[in-house]
This record gives sequence, C-alpha cells and structure tokens, in this order.
Amino acid sequence: MFRAMQTNLTRRAALCLALLLLTCSAFAGRRAEHVFIISLDGGKPDVIQQSQMPVLKRLVAEGACTWGAQTTVPSSTLPSHVSMLTGVQPAKHLVTWNSYKPEAGVVKVPTVFSLVKQAGGSTAMFVGKEKFKHLLVPGSVDEFGYNRKVSGEVTKLMEGEKKPTKEGTVLAKTVSADAAAYIAAKQPTLCFIHFTDTDSTGHKFGWGSPEQRQAFADEDAGLDTMLKAIRKAGLLETSVIIVTADHGGHAKTHGLNIPDDMTVPWVAWGKGVKKNCTITAPVLTCDTTATALWLLDIKPPADLDGQPVASAFE
Ligand SMILES: [Zn+2]
Ligand SMILES: [Zn+2]
Repeated sequence: MFRAMQTNLTRRAALCLALLLLTCSAFAGRRAEHVFIISLDGGKPDVIQQSQMPVLKRLVAEGACTWGAQTTVPSSTLPSHVSMLTGVQPAKHLVTWNSYKPEAGVVKVPTVFSLVKQAGGSTAMFVGKEKFKHLLVPGSVDEFGYNRKVSGEVTKLMEGEKKPTKEGTVLAKTVSADAAAYIAAKQPTLCFIHFTDTDSTGHKFGWGSPEQRQAFADEDAGLDTMLKAIRKAGLLETSVIIVTADHGGHAKTHGLNIPDDMTVPWVAWGKGVKKNCTITAPVLTCDTTATALWLLDIKPPADLDGQPVASAFE
C-alpha cells in the first residue's frame, strides 16, 4: 500500500517536471529565445530616411544599426532573400533566378529554418510573394503564410529584361495581420516576415517617389503590428528583431551592382542589443542567418559565408 503510494507520487513528480520543461522555451538561457527577421522589399536607406517611419526610427534609436549593409549580386529579390535566409552567397545556393518556378524545386543548401527545426525550434514565414516557396525545404517551415486570396498583381520591368513580368503580391497590412495572429498563437522560435509594398510602388512610380514613401509608411504600420503581437505574446523580453532589406533601387528598377541597388539597412533591436549603436563593421545579407543562429546558439554549417554581427550586441 505504502509502496504503491510512493510510486504514484514519484510518477506525479515526474509528470510535473515534464510539464514544467514543456512550458519552458527549448531555447531558454540562450542569447535570444526568439528571432524575428523582417525584410522591407526594396528598402533603400535614403528613401527610408525621407519617409514617415516612426516605428523603425525608434528601433534604430533604441538598437543597433547600419545604413550601409550590402546585398548580393544580383541585387534582386529571390537571390538576395535566399542569401539572407541561408547565410551563403548565390554562388553556393544557386538560386539566381527571380520568379516562382515550381519546376526548379527548393534550395539545395540548409536554410535558417531547417537549422532551427533540427535544433528543436519552431519556424514560420509570412511573405508578400509566392517565389519564397523556393525556400520550403520539406519539414523545415511550420507555417508558410502567402495569402493568395487577397493578392494583387504588379507589373514590373526588371534590370536586363526586355519584357515586363507580372507577379502577385500581398500588402504589408495583410502579411502583418496574418503573422501577428500566428505569433500570438504559436510563439515561433524563428519567424521571417516580408513586406513588399515598397518594391511594387518602386517599380510603378520610381524609387523615392511620393507613392513609394507612402508605402514605406504603410510598412512601418506593419512593423508596429508585429511589435504589438510580439509584446502581446509575452516574447518582447526574450526576442531579437532584425529589420533589413533585399536591395535598394534606382529609377523604376534594381538588380545592378551599384550603390543605389546594393546598399540596404541592417537594424537589430531587443535582447542584448546595444542601445543607440552605430554598427561600423561591414554587414552583408548573409550575416542575417549567421546572426540568428548565433543568437539561438545553433552551430552553423561549416561553409557559411555570413558572420554574426556580434558588435551589435552586449
Ligand atoms: Zn525585392
Ligand atoms: Zn523589385
């Protein structure tokens, strides 16, 4: 009788411990428990600085920033984002095209999502363009948010192309609302959010046009939605938020190896980030994945091109 009671108590204690461990983040005690990477498509620093972006400017003032980070060659959306989210240059990831080509399959190198999943974390991405499906290594992304139902069509002429292409895009307002609902419900370890209003208006009206500056203001409102969702989910104290871009632009296009197209912002804010810090070290798009892995204490692949932007952190 006594022995049976003792066994019961031991079982109950083990169950309580298991429940406690389940409710603790798998990443507790690391530099960060959650990393949010937010990309402003076509986010040219000069235009950002001329736009109404009080939320981003607050993150810059309270965090670490460089306005001189450098993207990939070519400075176009898909190759650059694949570098941002794999930590390797296009020569290694080989995604050099810039449209959704289902027949091309998924990227052949590990992604920040696949590495976080392997380490026991959870992952999500919310995007404004369908071509991000090329990053969906099987089993690596718990939630892929591309809200096709509310997408609009944008016609654009890319650098080096003779014919304009058409592409479906989802507004930042929708992307941020979808991401906010998911973050509240699931508290992902690694979450990527992509706003593309600024690229669409850049191709239609020009980089730096009043219409594009309004789109930057709209994306800033999306950023506010994200921050509120992260706070509401109780993750603000344990998260790092990185805001960057895939390329800049000139006239109504981008894709060249020129400062207008190559220069992007790189802003970090949150747990352990130095306050009011100007990052003076050179920062590349590949460094975003390297930084996320370093923050989450996940061993990077040996041939990663990126380096953690460690100087931005205490
Ligand atoms: Zn882009
Ligand atoms: Zn574009």
